[in-house]
Amino acid sequence: MQIITSKQELLQHMEACQKQHKTVGLVPTMGALHQGHASLVKRAVSENDVCVVSVFINPTQFNNQEDLLKYPRNLERDAELLRSLGVHFVFAPTPEEMYSQQEINSTFHFDFGGLDQVMEGKMRPGHFNGVVQVVSRLFYLVHPTRAYFGEKDYQQLAIIHFMVERSKLKDTFGTLQIIGCPIVREASGLALSSRNERLSDAQKQTALNISKTLFASREWAKTMSVSEVQRQVIDTINAIDGLEVEYYEIVDQSTLLPVKTFDHAIGCVTVYCGEVRLIDNIQY
Ligand code: AMP
Repeated sequence: MQIITSKQELLQHMEACQKQHKTVGLVPTMGALHQGHASLVKRAVSENDVCVVSVFINPTQFNNQEDLLKYPRNLERDAELLRSLGVHFVFAPTPEEMYSQQEINSTFHFDFGGLDQVMEGKMRPGHFNGVVQVVSRLFYLVHPTRAYFGEKDYQQLAIIHFMVERSKLKDTFGTLQIIGCPIVREASGLALSSRNERLSDAQKQTALNISKTLFASREWAKTMSVSEVQRQVIDTINAIDGLEVEYYEIVDQSTLLPVKTFDHAIGCVTVYCGEVRLIDNIQY
């Protein structure tokens, strides 16, 4: 496994792969890797000749500087895990290598066909612009055959699908396939997240109530309306000391617009556990 920090070097390796007609799987990450990331990487390794994992805490997708500063980092431990999974290249650039100062400050705006007007997009202005800025750059550098994303960040996955399949940029991505992978959870149900590292043991116990409530809501959906389930989820989570719901929306899995029935619906939640912002979702 090679750890690469320069774009130029990455491009050279990727050109060599293309010349040899090798398929390439890309897994973009921000590091602090866990078994959720590992599930994407295992799939990328098994489905492609070459697997590239990027480890880059992308400053342009953080609208909260404190969240950026406190984001957990541990490249050495990440590299150890990735080596054990059979990854070929780890791309871990500095922000200065990835972007010019002008790009970091740019007001670059991408059209997401409205997918960014709701939920995370509404709460974190500019977040998805930053995500697409870094992901499109990684696609241009790596020219992957397949790129792997988790359903944990469901809205992000929908936006990447849109970018590659329906946006003005789509022709530049050729036959790139976007692969969505299911949420990996602890045995307790808590969705794995790099941000869980910032939770105390007591907070982790409290945070279990998020997935527990989402699972219960599948039962509630059998007898209650969409708006009743939405209310019940919010009230149940807010009733627990230490948890505060930012939003819980039940939307169509493709358009991300509010629904009236549970057909093809997904519920997406964001909850503050103390200072730590956690997201999760459930398909109905
Ligand atoms: P991140 O490092 O948080 O940017 O995540 C990198 C990728 O891993 C994204 O596509 C995430 O959706 C995915 N991911 C993060 N946590 C999980 C999880 N618990 N299960 C599945 N995929 C995940």
